[in-house]
Amino acid sequence: MTAPQAPITQDVLTIPRKLPEGGKANLVGLTRDQLRTALIAAGTPEKQAKMRVGQVWQWIYHWGVRDFAVMTNLAKDYRALLADHFVVEVPEVVTRQISADGTRKYLMRIAGGHEIEVVYIPEETRGTLCISSQVGCTLTCSFCHTGTQKLVRNLTAAEIVGQVMVARDDLGEWPVPGEPKNETRLISNVVLMGMGEPLYNFDNVRDAMKVVMDGEGISLSRRRITLSTSGIVPEIAKTAEEIGCLLAVSFHATTDEVRDRLVPVNKKWNIETLLAALRDYPRLSNSERITFEYVMLKDVNDSDADAKRLVKLIQGIPAKINLIPFNEWPGAPYQRSDWERIEAFADIIYKAGYASPIRTPRGEDIMAACGQLKSATERARKSRAEIAAEAGL
Ligand code: SAH
Ligand code: SF4
Repeated sequence: MTAPQAPITQDVLTIPRKLPEGGKANLVGLTRDQLRTALIAAGTPEKQAKMRVGQVWQWIYHWGVRDFAVMTNLAKDYRALLADHFVVEVPEVVTRQISADGTRKYLMRIAGGHEIEVVYIPEETRGTLCISSQVGCTLTCSFCHTGTQKLVRNLTAAEIVGQVMVARDDLGEWPVPGEPKNETRLISNVVLMGMGEPLYNFDNVRDAMKVVMDGEGISLSRRRITLSTSGIVPEIAKTAEEIGCLLAVSFHATTDEVRDRLVPVNKKWNIETLLAALRDYPRLSNSERITFEYVMLKDVNDSDADAKRLVKLIQGIPAKINLIPFNEWPGAPYQRSDWERIEAFADIIYKAGYASPIRTPRGEDIMAACGQLKSATERARKSRAEIAAEAGL
């Protein structure tokens, strides 16, 4: 068996995004402190700064306004000053596809011409927006389409918050002045489960989530945000302390031998190290339980013995196990486990006392399901043989 060639470290191609001379700074994605600094630097008197931050924040994140001219509780001169120095800029929608099941997939373009995917999943009791944290991903998990994309760059906080703002635009979710407040939230949950490894872009993800959680704007509670990681151990405690959102972990295997092949970062932080970090998470973040994601791959990780080992490994951790039937993509070196197998696996976990929901694939007809995200321009760069070689098959 050939050892996987895939890089397991942060190997991000950094593309300089210096503003053109005289370019205007984007206010989106700044924390309140950063916004204050920016407004003062542009000439806002310090004494007014706190009030101005509050006003501008409310226009951008409560009302969804992008044009300074519309910010009518600000004096005309001050609006002109803002317009001279700043923009309120979000990603541009390139395409929007709507699945037969109502799932929406957006391809959005960001600075440098890069593209990211964002998925909106409506359900009866909630609406979940699945956002991306990077263009592509450096981690090359062998079952994941995003991991085959060669170009990777970290998204800025603006680009991460911007995905939520653009989806709200499309769903018509910003409040309308003078109209009664709409209590049903179309986007009630945000999951960082799109393209990229969020914990390899920690600072930007944290700042973006701070903006999304802020009570005077988009105002999503930290319990409605789930960050999914492949297991970047040193960042897990920081996630609890600095973001405090719910955590999902891409577990996917019950032995290091198999996990090394599926999630190559396991060679850096193995199952035991990962579990130790996870044990501390609920206490540090004051949250109830961790979601263990487990992709069901036929004859690879789906035996009864795997299910029993899994239950043993996570003993003592408040957990729910989310079984994800493998979503195929062109050239994928795996197959989805049979339905009876998935049910038998779920049953063992359930009988051990854990919730074991099987995730219904959504938006399959538009390639919007988990692990299928990859911008069209980058698609199919690696051959089936390359992927199989990297998976050690
Ligand atoms: N990089 C992060 C978040 C994005 S992936 C992570 O790996 O956790 C979101 C989830 O989809 C992860 O659990 C990932 O392992 C899973 N996934 C990736 N490719 C998949 C595929 N083809 N079918 C089903 N799930 C997949
Ligand atoms: Fe990256 Fe997550 Fe895909 Fe692995 S599963 S390659 S970490 S996006």
